[in-house]
Amino acid sequence: MKNVHNKIVTIFGAERSGIGAAKLLSHFGAKVLMSELDPFKFSEEKREIFKSINAEFEFGYHSPDVLKADFCVLSPGMPSNAPILDKMRAKNIPIYSELEVASWFFDAPVIAISGSNGKTTTVNLIHHVLTHLGFDSFLGGNVGTAISEIILDSLKISTPKKIFVVEVSSFQLDYVSSFKPDVATLLNFSPDHLDRYDSEESYYAAKLNLWKYLDNDSFAVINSDDDVLNHYSMPKQSKHLRFGKHKNRNDVFIQNNRMMAKIGDNAFEVLDLDRFTLPGEHNISNALAAVCSILPFSQDVMAMGTGLSTFSPIPHRVEYSGNIKGIKFYNDSKATNIASAKVAIQSFTNIWLILGGKDKGGDFAELISYLPKHVKQILLVGNAATTIATQIGDDFPLVMCETIDKAIDYALKNGVAGDTVLLSPACASFDQFSGYEARGDFFKNYVKEQFVRDV
Ligand code: ADP
Repeated sequence: MKNVHNKIVTIFGAERSGIGAAKLLSHFGAKVLMSELDPFKFSEEKREIFKSINAEFEFGYHSPDVLKADFCVLSPGMPSNAPILDKMRAKNIPIYSELEVASWFFDAPVIAISGSNGKTTTVNLIHHVLTHLGFDSFLGGNVGTAISEIILDSLKISTPKKIFVVEVSSFQLDYVSSFKPDVATLLNFSPDHLDRYDSEESYYAAKLNLWKYLDNDSFAVINSDDDVLNHYSMPKQSKHLRFGKHKNRNDVFIQNNRMMAKIGDNAFEVLDLDRFTLPGEHNISNALAAVCSILPFSQDVMAMGTGLSTFSPIPHRVEYSGNIKGIKFYNDSKATNIASAKVAIQSFTNIWLILGGKDKGGDFAELISYLPKHVKQILLVGNAATTIATQIGDDFPLVMCETIDKAIDYALKNGVAGDTVLLSPACASFDQFSGYEARGDFFKNYVKEQFVRDV
Protein backbone atom coordinates (compact mmCIF):
# COMPACT_ATOMS: atom_id res chain seq x y z
CA MET A 1 0.00 0.00 0.00
CA LYS A 2 1.40 3.40 -0.96
CA ASN A 3 1.55 6.10 1.71
CA VAL A 4 -0.44 9.13 0.56
CA HIS A 5 -0.74 10.72 4.00
CA ASN A 6 -0.49 14.53 3.70
CA LYS A 7 0.20 14.30 -0.03
CA ILE A 8 -1.36 17.14 -2.00
CA VAL A 9 -3.48 15.78 -4.82
CA THR A 10 -5.38 17.48 -7.62
CA ILE A 11 -8.22 15.50 -9.14
CA PHE A 12 -9.51 16.54 -12.54
CA GLY A 13 -13.13 15.63 -13.25
CA ALA A 14 -15.99 15.57 -10.74
CA GLU A 15 -17.76 12.48 -12.01
CA ARG A 16 -17.99 8.89 -10.83
CA SER A 17 -14.32 7.89 -10.83
CA GLY A 18 -12.96 11.33 -9.87
CA ILE A 19 -15.29 11.50 -6.87
CA GLY A 20 -14.36 7.90 -5.96
CA ALA A 21 -10.66 8.76 -6.08
CA ALA A 22 -11.28 11.86 -3.92
CA LYS A 23 -13.01 9.74 -1.26
CA LEU A 24 -10.35 7.01 -1.32
CA LEU A 25 -7.36 9.36 -1.19
CA SER A 26 -8.96 11.47 1.54
CA HIS A 27 -9.65 8.31 3.51
CA PHE A 28 -5.93 7.55 3.46
CA GLY A 29 -4.99 11.08 4.54
CA ALA A 30 -4.28 12.92 1.29
CA LYS A 31 -5.21 16.60 0.87
CA VAL A 32 -7.49 16.69 -2.13
CA LEU A 33 -8.43 19.51 -4.47
CA MET A 34 -11.17 18.58 -6.94
CA SER A 35 -10.91 20.80 -10.00
CA GLU A 36 -13.71 20.58 -12.56
CA LEU A 37 -13.74 22.86 -15.59
CA ASP A 38 -17.43 22.39 -16.37
CA PRO A 39 -19.54 24.62 -14.07
CA PHE A 40 -22.66 22.56 -14.88
CA LYS A 41 -21.17 19.51 -13.20
CA PHE A 42 -21.69 21.21 -9.83
CA SER A 43 -24.45 19.97 -7.53
CA GLU A 44 -25.37 20.39 -3.87
CA GLU A 45 -24.93 16.66 -3.44
CA LYS A 46 -21.31 16.87 -4.64
CA ARG A 47 -20.68 19.86 -2.31
CA GLU A 48 -21.85 17.71 0.60
CA ILE A 49 -19.58 14.83 -0.43
CA PHE A 50 -16.49 17.07 -0.73
CA LYS A 51 -17.27 18.78 2.56
CA SER A 52 -17.69 15.44 4.32
CA ILE A 53 -14.22 14.29 3.22
CA ASN A 54 -12.57 17.68 3.81
CA ALA A 55 -11.70 18.09 0.14
CA GLU A 56 -11.36 21.47 -1.54
CA PHE A 57 -13.34 21.89 -4.74
CA GLU A 58 -13.69 24.31 -7.63
CA PHE A 59 -16.08 24.20 -10.59
CA GLY A 60 -15.85 26.22 -13.82
CA TYR A 61 -12.09 26.91 -13.78
CA HIS A 62 -8.70 25.51 -12.79
CA SER A 63 -7.10 27.73 -10.16
CA PRO A 64 -3.29 28.09 -9.89
CA ASP A 65 -3.53 25.81 -6.82
CA VAL A 66 -3.87 22.77 -9.06
CA LEU A 67 -0.16 23.16 -9.83
CA LYS A 68 0.82 22.72 -6.16
CA ALA A 69 0.02 19.00 -6.30
CA ASP A 70 2.42 16.13 -5.57
CA PHE A 71 0.49 14.22 -8.22
CA CYS A 72 -2.80 14.51 -10.06
CA VAL A 73 -5.56 12.11 -10.95
CA LEU A 74 -7.27 12.21 -14.30
CA SER A 75 -10.87 11.14 -14.84
CA PRO A 76 -11.32 8.88 -17.88
CA GLY A 77 -13.57 11.47 -19.55
CA MET A 78 -10.85 14.14 -19.62
CA PRO A 79 -8.88 14.31 -22.90
CA SER A 80 -5.11 13.80 -22.69
CA ASN A 81 -4.53 17.00 -24.65
CA ALA A 82 -6.35 19.29 -22.19
CA PRO A 83 -4.17 22.44 -21.84
CA ILE A 84 -4.06 22.14 -18.04
CA LEU A 85 -2.31 18.78 -18.38
CA ASP A 86 0.47 20.41 -20.40
CA LYS A 87 0.99 22.74 -17.45
CA MET A 88 1.12 19.76 -15.08
CA ARG A 89 3.64 18.03 -17.36
CA ALA A 90 5.75 21.19 -17.57
CA LYS A 91 6.03 21.11 -13.77
CA ASN A 92 6.80 17.35 -13.75
CA ILE A 93 3.71 16.59 -11.71
CA PRO A 94 2.89 12.90 -12.21
CA ILE A 95 -0.46 12.19 -13.87
CA TYR A 96 -2.27 8.99 -12.87
CA SER A 97 -5.59 7.44 -13.76
CA GLU A 98 -8.08 6.59 -11.05
CA LEU A 99 -7.27 2.91 -11.68
CA GLU A 100 -3.59 3.50 -10.90
CA VAL A 101 -4.22 5.28 -7.59
CA ALA A 102 -6.93 2.81 -6.59
CA SER A 103 -4.56 -0.08 -7.27
CA TRP A 104 -2.24 1.17 -4.49
CA PHE A 105 -4.90 0.07 -1.99
CA PHE A 106 -6.01 -3.38 -3.18
CA ASP A 107 -5.67 -5.83 -0.28
CA ALA A 108 -6.83 -9.00 -2.06
CA PRO A 109 -6.34 -10.64 -5.47
CA VAL A 110 -7.48 -8.72 -8.54
CA ILE A 111 -8.91 -10.05 -11.80
CA ALA A 112 -8.79 -7.28 -14.42
CA ILE A 113 -10.61 -7.52 -17.75
CA SER A 114 -10.02 -5.34 -20.78
CA GLY A 115 -10.50 -5.52 -24.54
CA SER A 116 -12.67 -3.76 -27.09
CA ASN A 117 -15.92 -5.66 -26.49
CA GLY A 118 -17.49 -7.98 -23.94
CA LYS A 119 -15.86 -6.47 -20.83
CA THR A 120 -19.04 -5.78 -18.87
CA THR A 121 -20.56 -9.15 -19.73
CA THR A 122 -17.37 -10.97 -18.76
CA VAL A 123 -16.80 -9.19 -15.43
CA ASN A 124 -20.42 -9.84 -14.51
CA LEU A 125 -20.04 -13.52 -15.43
CA ILE A 126 -16.87 -13.74 -13.32
CA HIS A 127 -18.50 -11.95 -10.39
CA HIS A 128 -21.54 -14.22 -10.55
CA VAL A 129 -19.49 -17.43 -10.77
CA LEU A 130 -17.09 -16.33 -8.00
CA THR A 131 -20.03 -15.55 -5.74
CA HIS A 132 -21.44 -18.98 -6.53
CA LEU A 133 -18.06 -20.48 -5.59
CA GLY A 134 -18.25 -18.79 -2.19
CA PHE A 135 -15.88 -15.85 -2.79
CA ASP A 136 -16.58 -12.35 -1.48
CA SER A 137 -16.35 -10.74 -4.89
CA PHE A 138 -16.18 -6.95 -5.32
CA LEU A 139 -17.12 -5.80 -8.82
CA GLY A 140 -16.38 -2.38 -10.22
CA GLY A 141 -14.54 -0.25 -12.74
CA ASN A 142 -15.55 1.12 -16.08
CA VAL A 143 -19.21 0.26 -15.62
CA GLY A 144 -21.14 0.50 -12.37
CA THR A 145 -19.24 1.42 -9.24
CA ALA A 146 -15.86 3.18 -9.44
CA ILE A 147 -12.88 1.03 -8.43
CA SER A 148 -12.04 3.45 -5.60
CA GLU A 149 -15.53 3.05 -4.18
CA ILE A 150 -15.38 -0.76 -4.17
CA ILE A 151 -12.08 -0.60 -2.34
CA LEU A 152 -13.62 1.68 0.29
CA ASP A 153 -16.57 -0.73 0.58
CA SER A 154 -14.29 -3.73 0.87
CA LEU A 155 -12.33 -2.17 3.75
CA LYS A 156 -15.33 -2.92 5.94
CA ILE A 157 -14.89 -6.63 5.32
CA SER A 158 -11.91 -8.73 6.24
CA THR A 159 -12.19 -12.24 4.84
CA PRO A 160 -9.73 -14.64 3.23
CA LYS A 161 -12.16 -15.11 0.32
CA LYS A 162 -12.07 -11.46 -0.77
CA ILE A 163 -11.40 -10.84 -4.45
CA PHE A 164 -11.71 -7.85 -6.80
CA VAL A 165 -13.09 -8.04 -10.33
CA VAL A 166 -12.43 -4.89 -12.32
CA GLU A 167 -13.47 -3.79 -15.77
CA VAL A 168 -10.73 -1.66 -17.26
CA SER A 169 -11.06 0.81 -20.15
CA SER A 170 -8.23 2.00 -22.35
CA PHE A 171 -8.59 5.49 -20.87
CA GLN A 172 -7.86 4.16 -17.39
CA LEU A 173 -4.84 2.28 -18.78
CA ASP A 174 -3.43 5.40 -20.45
CA TYR A 175 -2.07 6.60 -17.13
CA VAL A 176 -0.94 3.56 -15.14
CA SER A 177 2.59 3.22 -13.86
CA SER A 178 2.46 0.20 -11.54
CA PHE A 179 -0.98 -1.47 -11.81
CA LYS A 180 -0.36 -5.22 -11.46
CA PRO A 181 -3.48 -7.39 -11.41
CA ASP A 182 -3.13 -11.06 -10.41
CA VAL A 183 -5.04 -12.05 -13.53
CA ALA A 184 -5.01 -9.73 -16.54
CA THR A 185 -7.36 -10.82 -19.33
CA LEU A 186 -7.54 -9.30 -22.81
CA LEU A 187 -10.72 -10.33 -24.63
CA ASN A 188 -10.28 -8.96 -28.14
CA PHE A 189 -8.94 -6.00 -30.12
CA SER A 190 -10.90 -4.07 -32.72
CA PRO A 191 -10.92 -0.39 -33.68
CA ASP A 192 -12.78 1.86 -31.25
CA HIS A 193 -12.47 5.35 -29.77
CA LEU A 194 -10.67 6.63 -32.86
CA ASP A 195 -12.11 10.02 -31.93
CA ARG A 196 -9.75 9.95 -28.88
CA TYR A 197 -6.72 8.01 -30.12
CA ASP A 198 -4.69 9.11 -33.14
CA SER A 199 -4.42 5.53 -34.47
CA GLU A 200 -5.59 1.96 -33.86
CA GLU A 201 -2.05 1.20 -32.72
CA SER A 202 -2.08 3.78 -29.95
CA TYR A 203 -5.46 2.49 -28.76
CA TYR A 204 -4.12 -1.09 -28.64
CA ALA A 205 -0.93 0.11 -26.94
CA ALA A 206 -3.04 1.60 -24.14
CA LYS A 207 -4.87 -1.72 -23.72
CA LEU A 208 -1.57 -3.62 -23.58
CA ASN A 209 -0.62 -1.59 -20.51
CA LEU A 210 -2.78 -4.14 -18.68
CA TRP A 211 0.13 -6.59 -19.04
CA LYS A 212 2.98 -4.14 -18.62
CA TYR A 213 3.65 -4.52 -14.89
CA LEU A 214 2.81 -8.22 -14.44
CA ASP A 215 5.39 -10.39 -12.67
CA ASN A 216 5.98 -14.12 -12.38
CA ASP A 217 3.17 -14.52 -9.83
CA SER A 218 0.57 -13.09 -12.20
CA PHE A 219 -1.35 -14.56 -15.13
CA ALA A 220 -1.82 -12.96 -18.53
CA VAL A 221 -4.95 -14.43 -20.13
CA ILE A 222 -5.59 -14.18 -23.87
CA ASN A 223 -8.33 -15.04 -26.38
CA SER A 224 -6.50 -17.23 -28.88
CA ASP A 225 -9.36 -16.82 -31.41
CA ASP A 226 -8.77 -13.09 -31.82
CA ASP A 227 -6.44 -12.45 -34.75
CA VAL A 228 -5.62 -8.84 -33.96
CA LEU A 229 -4.81 -9.57 -30.33
CA ASN A 230 -2.64 -12.52 -31.30
CA HIS A 231 -0.32 -10.26 -33.27
CA TYR A 232 1.03 -9.09 -29.94
CA SER A 233 3.30 -11.19 -27.73
CA MET A 234 2.26 -12.16 -24.26
CA PRO A 235 4.39 -10.76 -21.43
CA LYS A 236 7.53 -12.86 -20.94
CA GLN A 237 7.70 -12.32 -17.20
CA SER A 238 4.22 -13.70 -16.31
CA LYS A 239 2.37 -17.01 -16.47
CA HIS A 240 -0.02 -17.50 -19.39
CA LEU A 241 -3.51 -18.93 -19.87
CA ARG A 242 -5.40 -19.12 -23.16
CA PHE A 243 -9.03 -19.60 -24.08
CA GLY A 244 -10.66 -20.23 -27.46
CA LYS A 245 -12.81 -22.58 -29.49
CA HIS A 246 -10.19 -25.23 -30.21
CA LYS A 247 -8.57 -27.77 -27.95
CA ASN A 248 -5.06 -27.11 -29.18
CA ARG A 249 -3.07 -24.67 -27.07
CA ASN A 250 -6.11 -23.55 -25.04
CA ASP A 251 -6.65 -24.04 -21.30
CA VAL A 252 -10.38 -23.48 -21.68
CA PHE A 253 -11.99 -24.58 -24.95
CA ILE A 254 -15.02 -26.22 -26.60
CA GLN A 255 -15.37 -29.87 -27.48
CA ASN A 256 -18.60 -31.50 -28.68
CA ASN A 257 -20.67 -28.48 -27.59
CA ARG A 258 -19.19 -28.64 -24.08
CA MET A 259 -16.97 -26.12 -22.37
CA MET A 260 -13.85 -27.87 -21.09
CA ALA A 261 -11.05 -26.72 -18.76
CA LYS A 262 -7.56 -28.19 -18.58
CA ILE A 263 -6.31 -28.85 -15.11
CA GLY A 264 -2.90 -30.44 -15.03
CA ASP A 265 -2.80 -33.03 -17.80
CA ASN A 266 -6.54 -33.63 -17.89
CA ALA A 267 -9.51 -31.75 -19.31
CA PHE A 268 -12.75 -31.56 -17.34
CA GLU A 269 -16.26 -30.58 -18.46
CA VAL A 270 -17.40 -27.23 -17.15
CA LEU A 271 -20.73 -26.88 -18.93
CA ASP A 272 -22.91 -28.35 -21.65
CA LEU A 273 -23.42 -25.22 -23.77
CA ASP A 274 -27.12 -25.99 -24.17
CA ARG A 275 -27.40 -24.87 -20.55
CA PHE A 276 -25.89 -21.45 -21.29
CA THR A 277 -28.65 -18.95 -22.05
CA LEU A 278 -26.85 -15.84 -23.35
CA PRO A 279 -27.30 -15.45 -27.13
CA GLY A 280 -24.50 -15.53 -29.71
CA GLU A 281 -21.02 -16.99 -30.21
CA HIS A 282 -19.51 -13.86 -28.67
CA ASN A 283 -21.12 -14.67 -25.33
CA ILE A 284 -19.64 -18.17 -25.39
CA SER A 285 -16.27 -16.49 -25.89
CA ASN A 286 -17.02 -14.26 -22.87
CA ALA A 287 -17.90 -17.35 -20.81
CA LEU A 288 -14.63 -19.06 -21.82
CA ALA A 289 -12.79 -15.90 -20.76
CA ALA A 290 -14.59 -15.88 -17.42
CA VAL A 291 -13.70 -19.49 -16.59
CA CYS A 292 -10.11 -19.05 -17.74
CA SER A 293 -9.73 -15.97 -15.52
CA ILE A 294 -11.11 -17.84 -12.51
CA LEU A 295 -8.94 -20.97 -12.93
CA PRO A 296 -6.01 -19.61 -10.90
CA PHE A 297 -8.36 -19.31 -7.89
CA SER A 298 -10.61 -22.36 -8.17
CA GLN A 299 -10.68 -25.64 -9.99
CA ASP A 300 -14.22 -26.55 -9.00
CA VAL A 301 -15.38 -26.84 -12.59
CA MET A 302 -18.80 -28.24 -11.75
CA ALA A 303 -19.68 -25.28 -9.56
CA MET A 304 -18.35 -22.93 -12.25
CA GLY A 305 -20.69 -24.60 -14.76
CA THR A 306 -23.68 -24.16 -12.48
CA GLY A 307 -22.69 -20.53 -11.94
CA LEU A 308 -22.56 -19.90 -15.70
CA SER A 309 -25.89 -21.61 -16.32
CA THR A 310 -27.68 -19.47 -13.71
CA PHE A 311 -26.41 -16.14 -15.03
CA SER A 312 -29.12 -13.66 -16.15
CA PRO A 313 -28.53 -11.43 -19.19
CA ILE A 314 -27.43 -7.84 -18.58
CA PRO A 315 -29.64 -5.05 -19.99
CA HIS A 316 -28.72 -3.44 -23.34
CA ARG A 317 -26.51 -6.33 -24.50
CA VAL A 318 -28.50 -8.25 -27.13
CA GLU A 319 -31.40 -8.06 -24.67
CA TYR A 320 -34.69 -9.67 -25.68
CA SER A 321 -37.28 -6.89 -25.60
CA GLY A 322 -40.55 -8.36 -26.89
CA ASN A 323 -42.48 -9.95 -29.72
CA ILE A 324 -45.10 -8.22 -31.83
CA LYS A 325 -46.96 -10.32 -34.40
CA GLY A 326 -44.11 -12.83 -34.44
CA ILE A 327 -41.41 -10.17 -34.95
CA LYS A 328 -38.85 -10.33 -32.16
CA PHE A 329 -37.11 -7.25 -30.79
CA TYR A 330 -33.59 -7.15 -29.35
CA ASN A 331 -31.95 -4.18 -27.65
CA ASP A 332 -28.18 -4.12 -28.19
CA SER A 333 -27.77 -0.41 -27.48
CA LYS A 334 -24.41 -1.09 -25.84
CA ALA A 335 -23.03 -2.08 -29.26
CA THR A 336 -21.32 1.29 -29.69
CA ASN A 337 -18.67 0.19 -32.18
CA ILE A 338 -18.60 -1.75 -35.44
CA ALA A 339 -17.07 -4.96 -34.04
CA SER A 340 -19.78 -5.31 -31.42
CA ALA A 341 -22.57 -4.79 -33.96
CA LYS A 342 -20.89 -7.41 -36.16
CA VAL A 343 -21.22 -10.14 -33.51
CA ALA A 344 -24.83 -9.25 -32.73
CA ILE A 345 -25.73 -9.38 -36.44
CA GLN A 346 -24.24 -12.87 -36.68
CA SER A 347 -26.51 -14.07 -33.87
CA PHE A 348 -29.74 -13.72 -35.98
CA THR A 349 -31.20 -13.90 -39.49
CA ASN A 350 -33.90 -11.81 -41.24
CA ILE A 351 -32.86 -8.72 -39.31
CA TRP A 352 -34.18 -5.20 -39.58
CA LEU A 353 -30.99 -3.59 -38.37
CA ILE A 354 -31.15 -0.19 -36.67
CA LEU A 355 -27.75 1.46 -37.17
CA GLY A 356 -26.45 4.94 -36.39
CA GLY A 357 -26.00 7.55 -33.70
CA LYS A 358 -22.84 9.51 -32.98
CA ASP A 359 -20.01 8.31 -35.18
CA LYS A 360 -16.80 7.24 -33.42
CA GLY A 361 -14.71 7.08 -36.57
CA GLY A 362 -14.79 3.44 -37.73
CA ASP A 363 -15.32 2.02 -41.23
CA PHE A 364 -18.89 0.81 -41.66
CA ALA A 365 -17.98 -0.94 -44.93
CA GLU A 366 -16.59 -3.69 -42.67
CA LEU A 367 -20.19 -4.75 -42.07
CA ILE A 368 -20.97 -5.34 -45.75
CA SER A 369 -19.84 -8.98 -45.94
CA TYR A 370 -22.11 -9.94 -43.00
CA LEU A 371 -25.24 -8.28 -44.31
CA PRO A 372 -26.63 -10.53 -47.08
CA LYS A 373 -26.78 -13.65 -44.89
CA HIS A 374 -28.28 -11.99 -41.81
CA VAL A 375 -29.95 -8.66 -42.58
CA LYS A 376 -33.07 -7.76 -44.61
CA GLN A 377 -32.66 -3.99 -44.51
CA ILE A 378 -30.67 -1.36 -42.65
CA LEU A 379 -32.65 1.39 -40.91
CA LEU A 380 -30.44 4.43 -40.40
CA VAL A 381 -30.84 6.83 -37.49
CA GLY A 382 -28.95 9.73 -35.96
CA ASN A 383 -26.03 11.90 -37.05
CA ALA A 384 -23.94 9.12 -38.55
CA ALA A 385 -26.69 8.08 -40.99
CA THR A 386 -25.18 9.83 -44.03
CA THR A 387 -21.66 8.59 -43.29
CA ILE A 388 -22.93 5.02 -42.97
CA ALA A 389 -24.97 5.31 -46.15
CA THR A 390 -21.90 6.59 -48.04
CA GLN A 391 -19.59 3.88 -46.69
CA ILE A 392 -22.01 1.01 -47.33
CA GLY A 393 -22.88 2.51 -50.71
CA ASP A 394 -25.28 0.82 -53.09
CA ASP A 395 -24.23 -2.64 -51.93
CA PHE A 396 -27.16 -3.10 -49.57
CA PRO A 397 -30.73 -1.74 -49.15
CA LEU A 398 -30.94 0.95 -46.51
CA VAL A 399 -33.49 3.55 -45.56
CA MET A 400 -33.17 6.83 -43.67
CA CYS A 401 -35.41 6.76 -40.57
CA GLU A 402 -33.89 9.62 -38.49
CA THR A 403 -35.03 8.25 -35.14
CA ILE A 404 -35.42 4.88 -33.44
CA ASP A 405 -39.20 5.12 -33.10
CA LYS A 406 -39.56 5.77 -36.82
CA ALA A 407 -37.25 2.81 -37.53
CA ILE A 408 -39.41 0.55 -35.37
CA ASP A 409 -42.57 1.80 -37.12
CA TYR A 410 -40.96 1.04 -40.49
CA ALA A 411 -39.94 -2.47 -39.45
CA LEU A 412 -43.37 -3.22 -38.03
CA LYS A 413 -45.03 -2.05 -41.24
CA ASN A 414 -42.75 -4.02 -43.53
CA GLY A 415 -41.67 -7.01 -41.42
CA VAL A 416 -43.24 -10.46 -41.20
CA ALA A 417 -43.44 -13.12 -38.49
CA GLY A 418 -40.04 -14.73 -37.95
CA ASP A 419 -38.12 -11.46 -38.51
CA THR A 420 -35.95 -9.78 -35.88
CA VAL A 421 -35.62 -6.07 -35.19
CA LEU A 422 -32.16 -5.46 -33.78
CA LEU A 423 -30.96 -2.17 -32.35
CA SER A 424 -27.19 -2.67 -32.59
CA PRO A 425 -26.21 0.85 -33.62
CA ALA A 426 -22.37 0.60 -33.91
CA CYS A 427 -22.23 4.22 -32.76
CA ALA A 428 -22.29 6.20 -29.53
CA SER A 429 -25.65 7.56 -28.44
CA PHE A 430 -24.86 11.15 -27.52
CA ASP A 431 -26.37 12.77 -30.64
CA GLN A 432 -29.92 11.95 -29.48
CA PHE A 433 -29.61 10.46 -25.97
CA SER A 434 -27.79 11.02 -22.69
CA GLY A 435 -26.16 7.57 -22.94
CA TYR A 436 -26.57 4.05 -24.28
CA GLU A 437 -28.87 3.13 -21.37
CA ALA A 438 -31.31 5.94 -22.24
CA ARG A 439 -31.21 4.86 -25.90
CA GLY A 440 -31.88 1.21 -25.01
CA ASP A 441 -34.67 2.16 -22.61
CA PHE A 442 -36.27 4.30 -25.30
CA PHE A 443 -36.17 1.34 -27.69
CA LYS A 444 -37.67 -1.06 -25.13
CA ASN A 445 -40.39 1.36 -24.04
CA TYR A 446 -41.40 2.17 -27.59
CA VAL A 447 -41.62 -1.55 -28.39
CA LYS A 448 -43.74 -2.03 -25.28
CA GLU A 449 -46.08 0.83 -26.31
CA GLN A 450 -46.59 -0.76 -29.74
CA PHE A 451 -47.35 -4.03 -28.04
CA VAL A 452 -50.03 -2.42 -25.90
CA ARG A 453 -51.49 -0.68 -28.93
CA ASP A 454 -51.39 -3.92 -30.85
CA VAL A 455 -53.31 -5.86 -28.18
P1 ADP B 1 -18.00 -3.66 -23.18
O1 ADP B 1 -18.15 -3.53 -21.70
O2 ADP B 1 -16.62 -4.07 -23.60
O3 ADP B 1 -18.53 -2.51 -23.97
P2 ADP B 1 -20.34 -5.40 -23.16
O4 ADP B 1 -20.23 -6.69 -22.44
O5 ADP B 1 -21.06 -4.28 -22.51
O6 ADP B 1 -18.89 -4.95 -23.62
O7 ADP B 1 -21.00 -5.70 -24.57
C1 ADP B 1 -21.23 -4.61 -25.47
C2 ADP B 1 -21.64 -5.12 -26.82
O8 ADP B 1 -20.51 -5.73 -27.43
C3 ADP B 1 -22.70 -6.21 -26.74
O9 ADP B 1 -23.95 -5.64 -26.80
C4 ADP B 1 -22.39 -7.09 -27.94
O10 ADP B 1 -23.00 -6.56 -29.09
C5 ADP B 1 -20.89 -6.93 -28.11
N1 ADP B 1 -20.05 -7.99 -27.53
C6 ADP B 1 -20.16 -8.57 -26.32
N2 ADP B 1 -19.19 -9.51 -26.16
C7 ADP B 1 -18.44 -9.48 -27.27
C8 ADP B 1 -17.28 -10.21 -27.71
N3 ADP B 1 -16.69 -11.11 -26.95
N4 ADP B 1 -16.77 -9.90 -28.92
C9 ADP B 1 -17.33 -8.98 -29.72
N5 ADP B 1 -18.43 -8.27 -29.36
C10 ADP B 1 -18.98 -8.52 -28.16
